[in-house]
Order: sequence, then structure tokens, then C-alpha cells
Amino acid sequence: MKWSYRIARIAGIDVKIHITFLLLLAYFGFADWRDGGMFQGLLSMAFILLLFLCVLLHEFGHAMAGRHYGIRTPDITLLPIGGVARMQAIPDKPWQEFVIAVAGPAVNVAIAGTLWTGLFLWPDLLDRGHPVSSEILPNLLKINVALVMFNMIPAFPMDGGRVLRALLAMKLNYLKATKIAARTGQVFAAGFVLVGLGWNPILLFIGLFVFTAARQELDEVAFRQQIEQDGVYRI
Ligand SMILES: [Zn+2]
Repeated sequence: MKWSYRIARIAGIDVKIHITFLLLLAYFGFADWRDGGMFQGLLSMAFILLLFLCVLLHEFGHAMAGRHYGIRTPDITLLPIGGVARMQAIPDKPWQEFVIAVAGPAVNVAIAGTLWTGLFLWPDLLDRGHPVSSEILPNLLKINVALVMFNMIPAFPMDGGRVLRALLAMKLNYLKATKIAARTGQVFAAGFVLVGLGWNPILLFIGLFVFTAARQELDEVAFRQQIEQDGVYRI
């Protein structure tokens, strides 16, 4: 991907960061510094970095599950809209696709569970006197729950779309399973667009994005032979 830079290599996988992600970080850091002082600025930058650490761990969940089935992931790129793990093959068994798709959100479930347990055992952490723990930890918990819910929406390119396709493909052939999963995704997308039109431009954008992604997934499967030769699988 253009304008992405390698920042680390972990477990044989290049971790890349897209320039727009740094711009996002600088923007929020600066805006909160201006409105609430230096501490507030640093706090929001720390929060964004921790949030993207959760996204990175999510992608590593997919990559490690893929590795278990012998599928290589050359790199993971962090973008402002999330992370992308490029995997070098499409798992040919529905069960494998299911495990790989679920492994990402499972990481966020684990993080949310750990944070919840920590805050439950040590409620003092929520004390207003400690802005780091009282603001960052509960917000991180909420955002991990939101990541799980968003990713499990049964629509491509979200993980939930792949989970649905994998479950259907255990009974139907792959193309038919993809068609049903893509149609389901488009129904969700249409719902997003309708709701978004009235209230929320972000939802409208997500709806259009999901609608296109469903179409692409169908095309990808139809041309699977070609993809296996030179393409990649994004999850
Ligand atoms: Zn994922």
C-alpha cells in the first residue's frame, strides 16, 4: 500500500503504518492540547495508540490463526479506519475460514474481558482522581466491545460476513454460500444507508462501503482461480 511505512517486524510479519494514521494522531493530539491543555493532548494520543494496539492484536489474531493452517501473512497495515492483514491465500475449508475470521474478534473479547475483570476487582481505578485509569481503561473496554459488535455484523468485509459464509459453506457450495452471505450483507448495508440518510453521514458512508464490498466479494469468488495465482486475501 502506498504511503505506508514499516515500523516493526513481529513474529515474521511486517507491521506497517499508513501516513494518514499519523495525521489522525497529530490532529487529535493537537485539538485536545488546544482545548484542554498538554495533559489532555497527551492523554488522547495515548488513548488512540492503545486503541490501535487493540486493532493490531485483532489482526494478529487472524494472522496467527492463518499460520496455524499454513497461510502466510506478509504484513499488517494500520489505517485510520482500522487494520488490514494481507493473507496469501483463501482458506479452502469453511472451518478454517471460520476459525480465522473469529480469531480477530476473539482477541478483542479477551481484552475486554481482562479490562472488565480488572475494573471489577479494583474499582478504585475508576476514581476521578486518576484520569489515566478512570478515562482510558473504561473507554478502552467500551471500544473493544464496540469492535467485536461492529466486526461481527454479518456483512462483508466485516469478519461477521466471513463467519456467515463459512457457516453456510459447511452445507452449500462455496459460490452459493458467498452469494447468500453477500446478499445478507447488502440488506444490512441498505439498512445503514436508510438510517444514515436521516441521521448519520458516517453510517451512510459505511453502508455504501459495505454494499460495494459485498459485490467485490462475489466477484472475487467468481474469479478465485485468478486470485489464487497472484492476489491476496484481506481480512
Ligand atoms: Zn478482523
